[in-house]
Amino acid sequence: MAGRLVATGQPEAVENVYARRVFPVVARLVSAATGWLPFSLSETIVIAGVIAIAAAGLRVLLRARWRRWTAASVAGGVARLAAAIALAVFAFDLAWGYNYDRAPVAALLRYDLAPAPADDLAALAAELLAQAAALREGLPEDAAGVLRLTDGRRGALGRAARGYAAPQLVHRLPVPHLSAPPKLVLLSPLMSYLGIGGIFIPYTCEANVNATLPDWEIPFTSAHELAHQRGFAREEEANYVGYLACRAHPDRDFQYSGTFRPRSTRWPRWPRRTGRPTAGCAGPSPPPSRVISPRSRRGIAGTRAASEKSRSASTTRISRPRGRRTACAATDAWWTCCWRSGGRAGTVEEGPRGTRRSARTA
Ligand SMILES: [Zn+2]
Repeated sequence: MAGRLVATGQPEAVENVYARRVFPVVARLVSAATGWLPFSLSETIVIAGVIAIAAAGLRVLLRARWRRWTAASVAGGVARLAAAIALAVFAFDLAWGYNYDRAPVAALLRYDLAPAPADDLAALAAELLAQAAALREGLPEDAAGVLRLTDGRRGALGRAARGYAAPQLVHRLPVPHLSAPPKLVLLSPLMSYLGIGGIFIPYTCEANVNATLPDWEIPFTSAHELAHQRGFAREEEANYVGYLACRAHPDRDFQYSGTFRPRSTRWPRWPRRTGRPTAGCAGPSPPPSRVISPRSRRGIAGTRAASEKSRSASTTRISRPRGRRTACAATDAWWTCCWRSGGRAGTVEEGPRGTRRSARTA
């Protein structure tokens, strides 16, 4: 813990010593030990731990062992518990925690973090929406018009790391090469109840993904968790690195998910210099706008008009629209306003049930 306090004020040292030398070695060793398992070892440990603690507590109660406790035995138990917690914190910091103190991603990418004008952000939002609509064209979908991953969720997770191997990303960010894929979690319904889309566990270096997410959200969520796995600890930076990985990914479904999902994501401040987050790391260019379907084109045109109208309004509370996949165009005005106001967006998802709030990632 003292080491973290010292590291907090030394981002360059942490970047050069820990993030680029120590962490990659630890991550490769741990992920090689756990990555081959077809299930989440961290989830198994959590389940076993909860059962063990419950069983121990029940045994104490049923056998009335607490009556035999003395002040010395309680103090000894508290000391052992404190030592176990301290050991867990030390292991957490060594395995991953110092990444919180590394240099910011914006500094690694040499971005100028001066706030961008609201108009630039609105234009960027509209551009990303148009790109998402273009990328969506031709992707497989079910009878209800909802995007489906051709190789299923597990297949998509197996392809997730390809974005992190793309030269566009590797040449710009220090991304350790790791082979462990993200894993689906058995307790996904519980994660959904808690509003969690994915979670990275440093002790096992496992990127866990909620299996109940809609197909279109799986690629970006897995890229987000893989960003954590590669040492980008801060949430908003994992979002941005995940976005870059999706845009650099060779597969179109990842490019679409990475472009569509950020409309509901809080990112770091945008670079003023370019007014766009890609800054040369955009990966394959999306198809030109002329391939956008007439339906999507009408949606974008209509919502751009609404966006213009909304710029003159002072309100930042925009009611969430309802719709299905073409809502990626129809949410333009709402998304733009939310973006400009810095508010936290609710989301519109692809799905026959219309809207729901998006799950968080951790
Ligand atoms: Zn996260």
